[in-house]
Amino acid sequence: MEGSIFSKIIRHFRDVAGGLPDCRKGKNIQYAMADIALSAFSVFFTQSPSFLSFQRAMEEARGRNNARSLFGVERIPCDNHIRQTLDPVEPSELFSLFEQLHAGFDQAGLLEAMRAVGNTRLIALDATWYFSSQSESIRCPRCSRIEHQNGQCTHYHSAITPVIVSPSHKEVVPLRPDFIVPQDGHAKQDCEIAAAKRWLARQSGHYASGNDTLLGDDLYAHQPFFRQVLLHGYHFLFTCKPSSHTHLQEWVDALQPGADLHSMKLRVKGKSNQWESWHYRWANDAPLTEGENALRVNWLEVTMTDKEERVLYHNSFITDWQVGQKNVVGMVSAARSRWKIENESNNVLKTKGYHLEHNFGHGKQHLSSLLATMNLLAFGLHTLLEITDEASRLLRTKIGARRTFFDHIRTLTTYLDFENWSHLMDFMMRGLEIGPYAAQKT
Ligand SMILES: [Zn+2]
Repeated sequence: MEGSIFSKIIRHFRDVAGGLPDCRKGKNIQYAMADIALSAFSVFFTQSPSFLSFQRAMEEARGRNNARSLFGVERIPCDNHIRQTLDPVEPSELFSLFEQLHAGFDQAGLLEAMRAVGNTRLIALDATWYFSSQSESIRCPRCSRIEHQNGQCTHYHSAITPVIVSPSHKEVVPLRPDFIVPQDGHAKQDCEIAAAKRWLARQSGHYASGNDTLLGDDLYAHQPFFRQVLLHGYHFLFTCKPSSHTHLQEWVDALQPGADLHSMKLRVKGKSNQWESWHYRWANDAPLTEGENALRVNWLEVTMTDKEERVLYHNSFITDWQVGQKNVVGMVSAARSRWKIENESNNVLKTKGYHLEHNFGHGKQHLSSLLATMNLLAFGLHTLLEITDEASRLLRTKIGARRTFFDHIRTLTTYLDFENWSHLMDFMMRGLEIGPYAAQKT
């Protein structure tokens, strides 16, 4: 058996997929649950909607195919059978696989290296849509909906998709998601907060080490949510807009600069190699709201200006960490690393070729969220390979964009059959003359 990290994760996937609940009745059980789930996963991993159809054709022509050799799929079911069999499976059935990825990142030393504020891990909370449609025919009872003024309706699914981020690393590590299901009478924002609370209650225990800081936008920066955050043993560092925290802002504005309201200015060479002024202000032990029960938080703010004093960036945050001259800069860069969840994780889910669920349709029960979970797992495995698999890392460095890397894999696996992942990587390195095939320099 091949020993690559890819094969190891796929073996774990097979073990988990083999135990998925099987609601099929009668004689229609010729395909193993593991084959059905791995078939679906292979489409997300290769980001190729036609991966399975090409592999079926290859099997017919040569008696071999890459779905079997790479993903261990003994027999490839049709898309319709995949859809029907997976629809009743709850996404949480696959969540233990996030721990396998997590362990891989941990062993590679990435999680330790990503530590920031107070030597904690930063977990960014955010919600993203992973499906939306204006068609009346594509929807399920778990769809959320927005009614537009013109009478049309958009049906969508969204999820809380937390990731570990770090100001010093471009990679993000996906964690177990929590899916947002519509609740009667609840506004969209309430649904997101409720889902984030559910994530804290149900999933955060898998990650809480007592030494973690949650990052989030202004939506989460409110007292009831903070109480949950602290109850579950997390620190927090959330965006705090003055417009939605007027009491806190007035309290800060009334402080005496230099006494209770501290500040510091830095001159920094910006991205365009021009000098910028970064002005930090902070105040500790501020009441988040009016009244005696107000939670006390620590407030910080940054304003970045160019040499003409035009504002390039301005934001304020609240945290339970005591803020001082020594940590305010690190605190702001940690808070700003939250953008990576949007650029790295949620964007790839939405736009960069990961949007493949239409392959299998929308389902009536859990299909949409189960496929989104596979999508997140595929994204996590891609990232893990870039970090831990030397061949993948070399190839990505040479080829560039992740999308191009998978374009190559898509084409190669359409025409050629590979014995396993290492064979595929080896073939690519040989073709590009890198790694063991790099021309010897004399
Ligand atoms: Zn739906």
